[in-house]
Amino acid sequence: MADMTSFIDEVAATPGGEHIRSCIQCGICSGACPAANEMEYPPRKIIAMIRAGMRDEVLSSSSMWHCLSCYMCTVRCPRGVKPTDIAHTLEYLAYQQGFKVKGTTTPVMYQNFVNSIKGNGRVHEVGIMLRYYLTTNPLAALKVLPVGLSLFFHKRLPLLPKGVKGREDLAKIIQKFKEIEARS
Ligand code: SF4
Ligand code: SF4
Repeated sequence: MADMTSFIDEVAATPGGEHIRSCIQCGICSGACPAANEMEYPPRKIIAMIRAGMRDEVLSSSSMWHCLSCYMCTVRCPRGVKPTDIAHTLEYLAYQQGFKVKGTTTPVMYQNFVNSIKGNGRVHEVGIMLRYYLTTNPLAALKVLPVGLSLFFHKRLPLLPKGVKGREDLAKIIQKFKEIEARS
């Protein structure tokens, strides 16, 4: 396990993580969070664990992957801490550092989303959902089939992807980002 200082410094150095040391553990964020019941550790607890240097426990947790990005915690925090941004930082660090997440399929959804953008330059909903359900739980697709069919018959869900112009430029941007990330 990395030492205590390095983990909180790592989080504090990311956009939105700057004020993590200002947390007074009042719990307003957890009380306001609509996803707290789904989380292994709610926002207040996650911040306490980061401060305690519990890197492995935090980054292998499914908690941040349940965040809905509603920003209720962030707008209500009396100390200017940004638990929403911290949740997304933790997702990034968990992915980047190869932590295996249990109890949520959100990382699979995110990966399919990114792959769709890379391939088409925009999201192709049918492709994303097909890959998601095939990877996670094919039978669960039956539940959303009526909605999907309704959208399809209203011409709101194209079966085939439509790429954007300038996909080569997009590939260059993504490649540049990877190079910058590798250097940091
Ligand atoms: S609301 Fe802000 S100060 Fe209170 S526990 Fe949450 S992050 Fe910490
Ligand atoms: S932004 Fe995420 S962590 Fe914050 S209240 Fe909403 S769901 Fe909870």
